[in-house]
Amino acid sequence: MRYYSTNRQAPAASLEEAVVKGLAGDRGLYMPERVPRLAPDTIARLKEMTFHDIACLVARAFFGEDIEADTLDAITRDTLAFDTPVVPVGDRIYSLELFHGPTLAFKDVGGRFMARLLGHFIRKEGAGRKVNVLVATSGDTGSAVANGFLGVEGIRVYVLYPKGKVSPIQECQFTTLGQNITALEVDGTFDDCQALVKSAFMDADLNRHMRLTSANSINVARFLPQSFYYFNAYARLDERGEADALVVSVPSGNFGNITAGLFAHAMGLPIRRFIAANNRNDVFLEYLRTGRYNPRPSVATIANAMDVGAPSNFARILDLYGSEGGDPYPRIRQLIAGHRYTDEQIADTMRRVYRSTGYVLDPHGACGYQGLADSLRPDETGVFLETAHPAKFKGTVDRILGSDIEIPAKLRAFMEGKKQSIELSKDFEGFKSFLMSR
Ligand SMILES: *Cc1c(COP(=O)(O)O)cnc(C)c1O
Repeated sequence: MRYYSTNRQAPAASLEEAVVKGLAGDRGLYMPERVPRLAPDTIARLKEMTFHDIACLVARAFFGEDIEADTLDAITRDTLAFDTPVVPVGDRIYSLELFHGPTLAFKDVGGRFMARLLGHFIRKEGAGRKVNVLVATSGDTGSAVANGFLGVEGIRVYVLYPKGKVSPIQECQFTTLGQNITALEVDGTFDDCQALVKSAFMDADLNRHMRLTSANSINVARFLPQSFYYFNAYARLDERGEADALVVSVPSGNFGNITAGLFAHAMGLPIRRFIAANNRNDVFLEYLRTGRYNPRPSVATIANAMDVGAPSNFARILDLYGSEGGDPYPRIRQLIAGHRYTDEQIADTMRRVYRSTGYVLDPHGACGYQGLADSLRPDETGVFLETAHPAKFKGTVDRILGSDIEIPAKLRAFMEGKKQSIELSKDFEGFKSFLMSR
């Protein structure tokens, strides 16, 4: 399979090139040249298959031409060392729990798959070609990527995060690991961290000195594997006879997760419609309403992993529905609805659901739940993606619910580790000389 750039100004790439480079040379995002389709009788049989078998089937459809089947299956199975169960929460509303991985958020799936795939390509190339992964994080990405890559040979990871702006629970998940993971504490904002990473990719000296790649959700190896759990959610609901008119609601920030769902749909998965559930950062909702896309600086909310003002995967959504030259807008509006929630509304939802069902939503999942509660029609079944364990946002959740939720043992183990980080200023020269010295 070849991968083209959404900007169409860079040559098409192999899977290996697309994964190692991350972003295309013209700053576009890589897209697979074809979306493989599963036959209807395969879809009908998904309910008889396990999550692992479903994931291997989907992985082979995308990556099967480029990686030998045994290796690909091993990478896929090893990625999914945890389940993503579908749990009933309310009337015809299910939670797709994506927080059972090592860092308790959905990003574990993409982070682990990408780490294993990149590790495979580097081993294939042979010794001496170390790859350096740069990742800017506002909290959850850094932990998923760092833990996904921990101990993977031939790869060094640098996690850049804004000093004092990441919760202690999030911070300990990437600052206590050691080995091939280096945490860089930047005296600035998340945007400053992202700017440092972008400048590094553009810098000729640095690129001569070391091989750099990105592990943000722009990487095809991070976003595509997220389609695995959409297929599994469908299968598990089909098993219950509940998959006929399925609506999937995705708490969205950079729109990588929902884009993976749209790919699953394009592969033939029968999802009736999608909901992009947003906090106050609502550029996508505005696009749905007006047809105009106006990226702008993000505003801070209690669902902070979705505080994104210029969602990078928007380019992929436009491309997916506009690749035949037509206007993607009508199709996008038909398939995806948008909802937007303020912090007060998110808190109300969390309280209401907790009191009536005992289910503890995290602030991101709450947006997804409420998108369904506000729009589900009588014949539809809804699934929202519960993207993180509520304990990752314990301060906020306890304040809203008046609770004292338990911290899972996995998370406590990180909190007991010793913090190791290197402090940097937000200016590029300092960052550059640090990397040049490595
Ligand atoms: C990253 C993240 C999101 C947003 O996902 P995107 O793929 O960027 O849209 C939502 N919830 C949580 C908990 C996250 O960590």
